Amino acid sequence: MNVLIVGAGVVGVTTAWSLAKRGHRVTVVDRLDGAALETSRANAGQRSYGYVYPWAAPDMVGKALKGLFSKYGPFKITTPWSLHTLQFLAMTARCSLSQERYNRSHGALLDLAEYSRQCFLALEELPEDCFDGQHEGLMEVANDQAACTALGQKARVLDTLGVDHEWLSPEAVRQQEPGMQGPGPVTGGLRMPGDGTGDCHRFTQALAIACEARGVAFQYRTTIRDWDLHDERIKGAWLQKASGETRRSTEENTSPAHYLETDQVVLCAGCASRDLARPLGLSLPIYPVKGYSLTGTLDDPAKAPRSTVVDHGYKVAMTRLGDRVRVTGFVELANFNRGIPERRLQVLREAFASRFPGAADLEQAEPWAGFRPMTPDGPALLGWGRQENLLLNTGHGTFGWTLSAGSAEIIGQLLDGENPAVDLSPFRPERFHRG
Ligand SMILES: Cc1cc2nc3c(=O)[nH]c(=O)nc-3n(C[C@H](O)[C@H](O)[C@H](O)COP(=O)(O)OP(=O)(O)OC[C@H]3O[C@@H](n4cnc5c(N)ncnc54)[C@H](O)[C@@H]3O)c2cc1C
Repeated sequence: MNVLIVGAGVVGVTTAWSLAKRGHRVTVVDRLDGAALETSRANAGQRSYGYVYPWAAPDMVGKALKGLFSKYGPFKITTPWSLHTLQFLAMTARCSLSQERYNRSHGALLDLAEYSRQCFLALEELPEDCFDGQHEGLMEVANDQAACTALGQKARVLDTLGVDHEWLSPEAVRQQEPGMQGPGPVTGGLRMPGDGTGDCHRFTQALAIACEARGVAFQYRTTIRDWDLHDERIKGAWLQKASGETRRSTEENTSPAHYLETDQVVLCAGCASRDLARPLGLSLPIYPVKGYSLTGTLDDPAKAPRSTVVDHGYKVAMTRLGDRVRVTGFVELANFNRGIPERRLQVLREAFASRFPGAADLEQAEPWAGFRPMTPDGPALLGWGRQENLLLNTGHGTFGWTLSAGSAEIIGQLLDGENPAVDLSPFRPERFHRG
């Protein structure tokens, strides 16, 4: 079957890999110059199979309001508030009211994450060292008694869901992460020993090369100008070269369009999926939830994290990626504002210095801001779209790197008429439609 995949982020490229292995003829288009240059570019690097959870938690509104006006609060809303922001907030607040919905989504995300872990392990073509990958676990560190209580509650939920985890004393935390010699207090730690890390950008670029070797065609700097719709099918798409500043927008430019006929479309365009799906009669409630990262080269590996450490107080993740470290934080509603304010980076630097002083000079680190393609409840939009030959694999929000390998396989299963490996009902693309 001829398949057109829109988007060469980690989700699009893993999907291309799964479909090519199944014998489909795949073309991937992306408006940027290469693979993984948008949200998959510099995320926190966690493959957190035991640490996935829905966005719309029952206590999120209270927590968000508490931190909104503090420099250190992870949740931010930047003015002016757009209608899109308000609609997304209202939908999120509605989803967060139901503990039952949260529990269902949490279980579903963990199932998909576990399946994704298995799919990553089966990906023998890509040795982990080509993307600084490893499986040394993930640890959230408590900084006071209240944090211990909160992590203890988390541990009890993980118990009921059967997720492998361990509670560490302050001494055990430091044994696990001997480089953690900073002044930040340690009152305990919750560790997921099965979790992994890795550079999503390097992984995706390496996998794109492996895809090309299997015959996948990549058309970069190319955007969708128009869909060619006939009855309930997408017959093809008019593609147009994207260049310069217009690359990231879906605005029309003046270069000539060329036509690509296809049997099947898979939409993997992250935050841009919302605009691309509108002409197909689909309203996808995906919002770009912004976060920031700093990536620096290590000065002293012995003083650095061995794996991922999440600081419960700062809500900042610090991840070892080979001879580099990445420090990541913030959950900001700012539409598509790509600015990187110094005050945000300052918090990331402070958090790192409080745990791993002397490991890396983050003044010299590379700053980045990216947009999590978030749905109002959290689980992605994974399944059939409105047209009979449209599949969606988008809206992976906070955990697209972790969930990419599994959701890509599921797209292959749906396309080939097989039963999906996990229950897809919490991921149904149409679940936000009323009536
Ligand atoms: C700060 C931060 C930290 C994160 N940390 C983690 C983490 O530790 N672990 C984890 O699992 N996840 C993490 N995530 C989330 C993860 O990065 C995303 O879920 C994932 O990268 C989404 O991948 P994607 O392929 O769907 O989107 P993208 O990587 O954004 O790819 C979409 C692609 O579609 C292309 N595109 C858009 N419009 C068009 C068009 N019109 N025509 C052609 N192409 C188009 C874009 O150019 C882009 O390349 C983090 C995200 C952020 C922002």
